[in-house]
Amino acid sequence: MPYGDVVSRWGQRRLAALLARSVARDALPPSLIFSGPAGAGMRDMAVAVAQSINCLTPTGEDDARDACGTCASCTRIARGVHPDVVIVEPDEKGRVNIEQIRNVVDRAGFRPFEARRRVIVIDDADTMLGPAQSALLKVLEEPPPSSIFILVTTRPDMLLPTVQSRCPRLRFQAAEREPIDEEARAIARDVLAQAAATDDAGRRIDAAKDLLAKTGAGGRTDREQLASHLQAMAALLRDVEVLSTGANAEVLANADVRPDLDRLTKSFGGDRGVRAFAAVDTALAALDRNAGVKVVADWLVLNL
Ligand SMILES: [Zn+2]
Repeated sequence: MPYGDVVSRWGQRRLAALLARSVARDALPPSLIFSGPAGAGMRDMAVAVAQSINCLTPTGEDDARDACGTCASCTRIARGVHPDVVIVEPDEKGRVNIEQIRNVVDRAGFRPFEARRRVIVIDDADTMLGPAQSALLKVLEEPPPSSIFILVTTRPDMLLPTVQSRCPRLRFQAAEREPIDEEARAIARDVLAQAAATDDAGRRIDAAKDLLAKTGAGGRTDREQLASHLQAMAALLRDVEVLSTGANAEVLANADVRPDLDRLTKSFGGDRGVRAFAAVDTALAALDRNAGVKVVADWLVLNL
Protein backbone atom coordinates (compact mmCIF):
# COMPACT_ATOMS: atom_id res chain seq x y z
CA MET A 1 0.00 0.00 0.00
CA PRO A 2 1.86 3.10 -1.21
CA TYR A 3 1.51 6.43 0.63
CA GLY A 4 -0.96 7.60 -2.03
CA ASP A 5 -3.32 4.74 -1.15
CA VAL A 6 -2.90 5.28 2.58
CA VAL A 7 -3.84 8.94 2.15
CA SER A 8 -6.90 8.20 0.08
CA ARG A 9 -8.05 5.60 2.55
CA TRP A 10 -7.08 7.21 5.84
CA GLY A 11 -6.16 10.82 5.26
CA GLN A 12 -2.86 11.49 7.14
CA ARG A 13 -1.52 13.49 4.20
CA ARG A 14 0.86 15.48 6.38
CA LEU A 15 2.40 12.42 8.03
CA ALA A 16 2.67 10.59 4.71
CA ALA A 17 4.52 13.56 3.21
CA LEU A 18 6.83 13.72 6.20
CA LEU A 19 7.67 10.02 5.99
CA ALA A 20 8.11 10.10 2.22
CA ARG A 21 10.51 13.01 2.57
CA SER A 22 12.48 11.30 5.36
CA VAL A 23 12.81 8.10 3.35
CA ALA A 24 13.85 9.99 0.21
CA ARG A 25 16.55 11.78 2.18
CA ASP A 26 17.56 8.63 3.99
CA ALA A 27 16.80 10.46 7.22
CA LEU A 28 14.29 8.13 8.84
CA PRO A 29 15.06 7.53 12.53
CA PRO A 30 15.93 3.89 13.33
CA SER A 31 12.89 3.56 15.57
CA LEU A 32 9.53 5.26 15.59
CA ILE A 33 6.26 5.12 17.49
CA PHE A 34 3.06 5.52 15.49
CA SER A 35 0.37 6.40 18.03
CA GLY A 36 -3.26 7.32 17.56
CA PRO A 37 -6.79 5.98 17.74
CA ALA A 38 -7.76 2.64 16.20
CA GLY A 39 -8.74 3.04 12.58
CA ALA A 40 -6.29 5.85 11.88
CA GLY A 41 -4.32 3.82 9.32
CA MET A 42 -1.14 3.46 11.40
CA ARG A 43 -0.36 -0.09 10.36
CA ASP A 44 -1.02 0.64 6.69
CA MET A 45 1.32 3.62 6.99
CA ALA A 46 4.02 1.36 8.46
CA VAL A 47 3.63 -0.96 5.46
CA ALA A 48 3.87 2.09 3.18
CA VAL A 49 7.17 3.02 4.82
CA ALA A 50 8.51 -0.51 4.27
CA GLN A 51 7.44 -0.41 0.62
CA SER A 52 8.79 3.06 -0.04
CA ILE A 53 12.20 2.03 1.30
CA ASN A 54 12.35 -1.20 -0.64
CA CYS A 55 10.36 -0.61 -3.84
CA LEU A 56 12.30 -1.68 -6.94
CA THR A 57 10.57 0.80 -9.28
CA PRO A 58 9.49 3.81 -7.21
CA THR A 59 7.22 6.45 -8.71
CA GLY A 60 7.46 10.22 -8.33
CA GLU A 61 10.63 12.12 -7.73
CA ASP A 62 12.72 13.31 -4.82
CA ASP A 63 10.61 14.19 -1.80
CA ALA A 64 7.43 12.91 -3.43
CA ARG A 65 8.87 9.49 -4.11
CA ASP A 66 6.44 6.68 -3.46
CA ALA A 67 6.33 2.91 -3.83
CA CYS A 68 4.85 1.54 -7.05
CA GLY A 69 2.75 -1.00 -5.15
CA THR A 70 3.17 -3.57 -7.93
CA CYS A 71 6.83 -4.66 -8.15
CA ALA A 72 8.03 -7.96 -6.66
CA SER A 73 9.19 -6.24 -3.49
CA CYS A 74 5.97 -4.22 -2.98
CA THR A 75 3.69 -7.19 -3.57
CA ARG A 76 5.64 -9.44 -1.24
CA ILE A 77 5.55 -6.80 1.46
CA ALA A 78 1.79 -6.37 0.96
CA ARG A 79 1.28 -10.14 1.20
CA GLY A 80 3.42 -10.37 4.31
CA VAL A 81 5.98 -12.72 2.75
CA HIS A 82 8.98 -10.42 2.30
CA PRO A 83 11.89 -11.93 4.28
CA ASP A 84 13.04 -8.53 5.58
CA VAL A 85 9.74 -6.91 6.43
CA VAL A 86 8.33 -8.39 9.58
CA ILE A 87 5.02 -7.51 11.17
CA VAL A 88 4.78 -8.76 14.73
CA GLU A 89 1.26 -9.13 16.09
CA PRO A 90 -0.11 -10.18 19.48
CA ASP A 91 -0.17 -13.95 20.09
CA GLU A 92 -3.30 -15.94 20.90
CA LYS A 93 -3.20 -14.54 24.43
CA GLY A 94 -3.44 -11.06 23.01
CA ARG A 95 0.15 -10.10 23.79
CA VAL A 96 3.27 -9.48 21.77
CA ASN A 97 5.45 -11.85 23.78
CA ILE A 98 9.12 -11.91 24.68
CA GLU A 99 9.92 -14.81 22.33
CA GLN A 100 8.60 -12.84 19.39
CA ILE A 101 10.70 -9.87 20.43
CA ARG A 102 13.86 -11.97 20.93
CA ASN A 103 13.31 -13.43 17.50
CA VAL A 104 13.18 -10.05 15.74
CA VAL A 105 16.00 -8.63 17.84
CA ASP A 106 18.21 -11.56 16.79
CA ARG A 107 17.31 -11.07 13.17
CA ALA A 108 17.98 -7.33 13.34
CA GLY A 109 21.65 -8.09 13.98
CA PHE A 110 22.09 -9.61 10.52
CA ARG A 111 22.15 -7.83 7.23
CA PRO A 112 18.89 -7.91 5.31
CA PHE A 113 18.55 -10.73 2.80
CA GLU A 114 17.47 -8.54 -0.05
CA ALA A 115 15.96 -5.35 1.33
CA ARG A 116 17.70 -2.00 1.43
CA ARG A 117 16.68 -1.78 5.03
CA ARG A 118 14.81 -4.28 7.10
CA VAL A 119 11.58 -2.95 8.58
CA ILE A 120 10.15 -4.46 11.73
CA VAL A 121 6.63 -3.38 12.63
CA ILE A 122 5.34 -4.23 16.09
CA ASP A 123 1.57 -3.90 15.97
CA ASP A 124 -0.30 -3.33 19.24
CA ALA A 125 3.10 -2.70 20.82
CA ASP A 126 1.38 -1.69 24.07
CA THR A 127 0.47 -5.35 24.67
CA MET A 128 4.14 -6.14 25.44
CA LEU A 129 4.75 -6.82 29.11
CA GLY A 130 7.76 -5.31 30.86
CA PRO A 131 10.26 -8.09 30.05
CA ALA A 132 9.37 -8.02 26.35
CA GLN A 133 9.74 -4.27 26.29
CA SER A 134 13.10 -4.51 28.06
CA ALA A 135 14.27 -7.05 25.48
CA LEU A 136 13.25 -4.64 22.76
CA LEU A 137 14.91 -1.72 24.51
CA LYS A 138 18.33 -3.32 24.04
CA VAL A 139 18.04 -3.06 20.29
CA LEU A 140 16.48 0.39 20.43
CA GLU A 141 19.46 1.62 22.41
CA GLU A 142 21.92 0.44 19.80
CA PRO A 143 19.94 0.18 16.62
CA PRO A 144 21.62 -1.82 13.85
CA PRO A 145 22.07 0.46 10.83
CA SER A 146 20.15 -1.80 8.50
CA SER A 147 16.93 -2.08 10.52
CA ILE A 148 14.03 0.22 11.29
CA PHE A 149 11.57 -0.48 14.08
CA ILE A 150 8.05 0.92 13.99
CA LEU A 151 5.93 0.48 17.12
CA VAL A 152 2.22 0.87 16.40
CA THR A 153 0.04 1.61 19.39
CA THR A 154 -3.26 3.08 20.47
CA ARG A 155 -1.96 3.33 24.05
CA PRO A 156 1.55 4.77 23.93
CA ASP A 157 1.52 5.42 27.68
CA MET A 158 1.66 1.65 28.25
CA LEU A 159 5.18 1.66 26.82
CA LEU A 160 8.08 2.02 29.24
CA PRO A 161 9.37 5.61 29.47
CA THR A 162 12.75 4.30 28.34
CA VAL A 163 11.16 2.84 25.21
CA GLN A 164 9.18 6.01 24.56
CA SER A 165 12.25 8.17 24.90
CA ARG A 166 14.14 6.13 22.28
CA CYS A 167 11.47 6.44 19.62
CA PRO A 168 10.29 9.71 18.11
CA ARG A 169 6.51 9.63 18.13
CA LEU A 170 4.27 10.40 15.18
CA ARG A 171 0.73 11.17 16.32
CA PHE A 172 -2.06 10.06 14.02
CA GLN A 173 -5.45 11.73 14.17
CA ALA A 174 -8.67 9.81 13.59
CA ALA A 175 -8.92 9.19 9.87
CA GLU A 176 -10.08 12.33 8.17
CA ARG A 177 -10.82 12.01 4.55
CA GLU A 178 -10.73 14.64 1.91
CA PRO A 179 -14.15 16.26 1.81
CA ILE A 180 -16.19 14.56 -0.87
CA ASP A 181 -17.17 16.69 -3.83
CA GLU A 182 -20.67 15.27 -4.34
CA GLU A 183 -21.18 16.70 -7.79
CA ALA A 184 -17.89 15.27 -8.98
CA ARG A 185 -18.79 11.95 -7.46
CA ALA A 186 -22.20 11.88 -9.17
CA ILE A 187 -20.53 12.46 -12.52
CA ALA A 188 -17.87 9.82 -11.89
CA ARG A 189 -20.53 7.33 -10.87
CA ASP A 190 -22.65 8.01 -13.97
CA VAL A 191 -19.69 7.67 -16.31
CA LEU A 192 -18.73 4.36 -14.71
CA ALA A 193 -22.30 3.10 -14.99
CA GLN A 194 -22.38 4.17 -18.64
CA ALA A 195 -19.10 2.38 -19.35
CA ALA A 196 -20.47 -0.74 -17.65
CA ALA A 197 -23.63 -0.57 -19.76
CA THR A 198 -22.09 -0.35 -23.21
CA ASP A 199 -19.04 -1.34 -25.22
CA ASP A 200 -20.12 0.99 -28.00
CA ALA A 201 -17.27 3.47 -28.53
CA GLY A 202 -19.55 6.25 -29.70
CA ARG A 203 -21.78 6.06 -26.65
CA ARG A 204 -18.81 5.91 -24.39
CA ILE A 205 -17.29 9.00 -25.98
CA ASP A 206 -20.60 10.73 -25.26
CA ALA A 207 -20.08 9.90 -21.61
CA ALA A 208 -16.64 11.49 -21.77
CA LYS A 209 -18.35 14.84 -22.31
CA ASP A 210 -19.81 14.53 -18.82
CA LEU A 211 -16.32 14.22 -17.42
CA LEU A 212 -15.57 17.67 -18.81
CA ALA A 213 -18.74 19.23 -17.43
CA LYS A 214 -18.44 22.17 -15.06
CA THR A 215 -19.20 21.40 -11.43
CA GLY A 216 -18.27 22.83 -8.08
CA ALA A 217 -17.87 26.44 -7.07
CA GLY A 218 -16.39 27.46 -10.40
CA GLY A 219 -13.08 29.08 -11.07
CA ARG A 220 -11.50 25.75 -11.93
CA THR A 221 -9.62 25.22 -15.14
CA ASP A 222 -10.78 22.40 -17.43
CA ARG A 223 -7.78 20.43 -16.27
CA GLU A 224 -8.62 20.85 -12.58
CA GLN A 225 -12.22 20.04 -13.32
CA LEU A 226 -11.40 16.78 -15.05
CA ALA A 227 -8.88 15.88 -12.34
CA SER A 228 -11.51 16.30 -9.63
CA HIS A 229 -13.89 13.99 -11.51
CA LEU A 230 -11.14 11.42 -11.96
CA GLN A 231 -10.19 11.57 -8.29
CA ALA A 232 -13.82 10.92 -7.38
CA MET A 233 -13.79 7.99 -9.82
CA ALA A 234 -10.61 6.60 -8.27
CA ALA A 235 -12.18 6.79 -4.80
CA LEU A 236 -15.28 4.92 -6.03
CA LEU A 237 -13.17 2.23 -7.69
CA ARG A 238 -11.10 1.81 -4.56
CA ASP A 239 -14.29 1.23 -2.59
CA VAL A 240 -15.45 -1.25 -5.21
CA GLU A 241 -12.20 -3.12 -4.66
CA VAL A 242 -12.81 -3.13 -0.91
CA LEU A 243 -16.29 -4.58 -1.41
CA SER A 244 -15.27 -7.14 -4.01
CA THR A 245 -12.43 -8.48 -1.86
CA GLY A 246 -14.65 -8.66 1.21
CA ALA A 247 -12.35 -6.31 3.14
CA ASN A 248 -13.61 -4.37 6.13
CA ALA A 249 -16.36 -2.03 4.91
CA GLU A 250 -15.44 0.47 7.62
CA VAL A 251 -12.74 1.82 5.35
CA LEU A 252 -15.14 2.82 2.57
CA ALA A 253 -14.68 6.46 1.57
CA ASN A 254 -18.14 6.57 -0.02
CA ALA A 255 -20.14 4.53 2.47
CA ASP A 256 -22.99 7.06 2.21
CA VAL A 257 -23.75 5.89 -1.34
CA ARG A 258 -23.50 2.19 -0.57
CA PRO A 259 -26.30 1.08 -2.97
CA ASP A 260 -24.43 2.77 -5.84
CA LEU A 261 -21.22 1.06 -4.75
CA ASP A 262 -22.94 -2.32 -4.69
CA ARG A 263 -24.22 -1.76 -8.23
CA LEU A 264 -20.78 -0.72 -9.45
CA THR A 265 -19.21 -3.72 -7.74
CA LYS A 266 -21.33 -6.02 -9.94
CA SER A 267 -19.67 -4.53 -13.03
CA PHE A 268 -16.27 -3.52 -11.70
CA GLY A 269 -15.50 -6.14 -9.05
CA GLY A 270 -12.31 -8.12 -9.68
CA ASP A 271 -9.96 -7.66 -12.64
CA ARG A 272 -12.01 -5.10 -14.49
CA GLY A 273 -12.04 -2.80 -11.49
CA VAL A 274 -8.29 -3.08 -11.07
CA ARG A 275 -7.77 -2.29 -14.76
CA ALA A 276 -10.19 0.64 -14.55
CA PHE A 277 -8.41 1.97 -11.49
CA ALA A 278 -5.07 1.74 -13.28
CA ALA A 279 -6.58 3.56 -16.27
CA VAL A 280 -7.81 6.40 -14.04
CA ASP A 281 -4.36 6.58 -12.49
CA THR A 282 -2.75 6.77 -15.93
CA ALA A 283 -5.22 9.49 -16.96
CA LEU A 284 -4.42 11.56 -13.86
CA ALA A 285 -0.70 11.22 -14.56
CA ALA A 286 -1.29 12.29 -18.18
CA LEU A 287 -3.15 15.38 -16.95
CA ASP A 288 -0.20 16.21 -14.74
CA ARG A 289 2.01 16.03 -17.80
CA ASN A 290 -0.21 18.51 -19.61
CA ALA A 291 -1.93 16.09 -22.00
CA GLY A 292 -5.06 17.58 -23.62
CA VAL A 293 -8.13 17.25 -21.43
CA LYS A 294 -10.42 15.94 -24.17
CA VAL A 295 -7.85 13.40 -25.33
CA VAL A 296 -7.47 12.14 -21.76
CA ALA A 297 -11.24 11.95 -21.12
CA ASP A 298 -11.88 10.10 -24.41
CA TRP A 299 -9.01 7.69 -23.83
CA LEU A 300 -10.23 6.95 -20.32
CA VAL A 301 -13.85 6.14 -21.18
CA LEU A 302 -12.64 3.67 -23.79
CA ASN A 303 -10.45 1.95 -21.21
CA LEU A 304 -12.89 1.54 -18.34
ZN1 LIG B 1 7.38 -1.34 -5.85
